[in-house]
Amino acid sequence: TIKTVDDNYFGSYSSFGIHREMLGDKIRTEAYRDALLCNPSLMNGATVLDVGCGTGILSLFAAKAGASRVVAVDGSAKMVSVATQVAKNNGLLNDDENKVVEQKKSSQVVSVTHTKAEELSHKVQIPPGGFDVLVSEWMGYCLLYESMLSSVLYARDHFLKPGGAILPDTATISDISCISAFMQSFDLATMKETEMDFTASFELRFRESGVAVPEVTWCYGIVLWFDTGFTDRFCKEKPVILSTSPFSTPTHWSQTIFTFEEPIAMVKEECLVSPSASVGTEKCPAVMIRSRISIVRASEHRSIDISMETTAI
Ligand code: SAH
Repeated sequence: TIKTVDDNYFGSYSSFGIHREMLGDKIRTEAYRDALLCNPSLMNGATVLDVGCGTGILSLFAAKAGASRVVAVDGSAKMVSVATQVAKNNGLLNDDENKVVEQKKSSQVVSVTHTKAEELSHKVQIPPGGFDVLVSEWMGYCLLYESMLSSVLYARDHFLKPGGAILPDTATISDISCISAFMQSFDLATMKETEMDFTASFELRFRESGVAVPEVTWCYGIVLWFDTGFTDRFCKEKPVILSTSPFSTPTHWSQTIFTFEEPIAMVKEECLVSPSASVGTEKCPAVMIRSRISIVRASEHRSIDISMETTAI
């Protein structure tokens, strides 16, 4: 049999190692835990859809937070059986959606279904008007690798009630040159799928770092990372930021480095006139690097194509 892109993709999520890595990423898992458990006005009594539940950890948080119904779905059959067992072991599994509420313990609110998010309406009963909350951990390397975000946006548009909460609700990609400015930001509550493809321009300068700075330095490439926000739009009591910045505690995503074909010699602008600003190359060292980076989804695959154009000025 020929394996499809989806077979390979969901197959890759069927190994425990990858889920262990995600669960063990304290920064990641605790950001979701805090967003779900510390915002009772959002979660109490809510109907919740967990897109790509994996081991079911986010559904367990949602159930503990007082959700009235939690629908967990995953495209990996193996993870669905794991999540079912985990919910059961925690006394949170609803093994019969049709059983009347009084016959169940009030905490038994989690159901787990094997389906792709795009096809869940065939397998799951959608609450009238849609779910109150959609939670998902869809972020890949450099934010968009895997392109799982399109499945989350599909679920948002088809199964979330109008004005319902999406967790997280913001995402930004930054680079080392803009510590306060963002290179690209996404509003996950409103963005369209086509906005996943983007081009951004930015400038890099030789920065004073406090330590003794040489007059000339070599720049080898750029580093990108992302942050996601559970902002006070939906998380009124406790907004949370999940950052994968090199200035924060490391996560399993680390950062993504794009190396230039050749390193670029750089000087501070005021050093340009200094005769000692020589790096043993005929080329004049640059004071600024101007770059344009495009990230687009690769057709038919869950990968992304990244291209970068760089000019030394
Ligand atoms: N929510 C879990 C797992 C996150 S990993 C946690 O936070 O630990 C992402 C999961 O989403 C994987 O288990 C993968 O199989 C699933 N997934 C990815 N795309 C999906 C889709 N379109 N429909 C259903 N599940 C999907």
